[in-house]
Amino acid sequence: MHMNIVFVSSEVFPFSKTGGLADVAGTLPVEIGNLGNNVKVFTPKYGSINETKHGLIYQEHISEIPITVSGEIKKVHVHKAFLPNTQIEVYFIDFQPFFFRDSYYTNDIDEADRFILFSKAVLEILQRIKWKPDLIHCNDWQTGLIPLYLKDNYSWDKLFHNTASLFTIHNVGYQGQFGAETLMKAEIRFEYFNNFGEVKQNDHVNFLKTGISFADIINTVSNTYAQELLTPEFSYGMDHILNYRGHDFYGILNGVDYNIWNPSTDKHIPFNYSPEDLSGKKQNKKVLCEQFNLPYDENIPIIGIVSRLAIQKGFDLIARSLEYLSHLPFQWIVLGAGEDYFEEMFQTFANYRPEKAACHIGYNNDLAHLIEAGSDMFLMPSHYEPCGLNQIYSLKYGTVPIVRKTGGLSDTVKDWDEYKARGEETGNGFSFDKYDGFALTNSVERALNCYKNKPVWQKIMLNGMKENFSWHRSAEQYALLYKKAISKVRG
Ligand code: ADP
Repeated sequence: MHMNIVFVSSEVFPFSKTGGLADVAGTLPVEIGNLGNNVKVFTPKYGSINETKHGLIYQEHISEIPITVSGEIKKVHVHKAFLPNTQIEVYFIDFQPFFFRDSYYTNDIDEADRFILFSKAVLEILQRIKWKPDLIHCNDWQTGLIPLYLKDNYSWDKLFHNTASLFTIHNVGYQGQFGAETLMKAEIRFEYFNNFGEVKQNDHVNFLKTGISFADIINTVSNTYAQELLTPEFSYGMDHILNYRGHDFYGILNGVDYNIWNPSTDKHIPFNYSPEDLSGKKQNKKVLCEQFNLPYDENIPIIGIVSRLAIQKGFDLIARSLEYLSHLPFQWIVLGAGEDYFEEMFQTFANYRPEKAACHIGYNNDLAHLIEAGSDMFLMPSHYEPCGLNQIYSLKYGTVPIVRKTGGLSDTVKDWDEYKARGEETGNGFSFDKYDGFALTNSVERALNCYKNKPVWQKIMLNGMKENFSWHRSAEQYALLYKKAISKVRG
């Protein structure tokens, strides 16, 4: 059965990106299409999206769509482009007063309105182009109202009679929680707040919970994170509803796009390399050192970090261990932007120890690739990590990951066992369980020790480079979930 799939995401690479969601939204629809399905992608048109560069075309025949938010009619415009080198259409929802802001996500007073409008616009555009979806794949809180709208506000329309929904949780830490007045703004019935509380959390309207309550099937982006989300420790209050929906809740590990993240073809790095010929990696390390003004030393490993600088990522552990780490024989390079405290911490440390540490505060895709290629190790001590992409990229680049065993990190990084026979050992990185500074520094020291032994280190690198986390397998699992959701709706 070929399916008509609508994929809705608040960020889509290469048009917009703050994190892993964009990478998923830029690739999964292509893989789903390759399995013989028809896919259309919907996303906001942010001010930062370059129309000419990405070939956006204004859709005159569906302009000025009236959409009611907070009782006011807003006139929405639509543009269209394709995912690069594919026939997959991307619909851009254009309402400048909402989407031309300094960042995609804001703390502005109308944050709920922005994504109410987005969610309604998806359905309104489908009505106007008369395209009947078998399933709408919603991602994160920004799209959490769509499963409710399908079952309620828009259920009068025959177009959506057999439309199922899948809701994917990419990060439970972001929920879209707003005051109870949002019920009126979004035209949500009071009974969903007052009776069983399908949309209610802490006396607020919660968009993530709404998605979980009303979607036909729910999933998250790794098996371990799916298990973790059923517990209070990890779920930010969503464990009750997720346990309630337990039979409809799955984990599917994200894949990565090896057309973009592959050291043997990567166009962003000066020297390509492969498991058969690793020499380019050393050359990249030299370029990386030059670029960051660090002295190059073959025997001193570079630890790379590329990340949103958020507490979720475990940087408080680094803060606690900074003094100890500063005495260990490695250099580090940090690329990231986010919370002031961590930006300042990395910047200050780099200023204080310029021969040991460097950092670039900001977002820079080219540098992200160079750091993956030129570093020897990659550090992700996350407090929680739904899937995590950078450790998977690191494996492919022979940049040995050091991670905390949580969520997707636990499902992708296998701890190297120093005591096993070398030939048999399949470990591809270093990991630690306990969320404390000692466990972190212990893992770093283990990695530094192994680095001294060249054959051992090469084996760990090659174990990682051989791993295959391409999207194909995950896309097949998604296609199965789509079918499950569709047969649920059709009975
Ligand atoms: P999350 O989605 O929680 O931010 P992931 O590991 O799933 O974490 O995905 C992060 C993605 O964002 C990766 O592709 C990574 O390379 C990219 N990224 C994060 N910060 C930066 C940055 N400062 N510059 C360039 N790319 C970045």
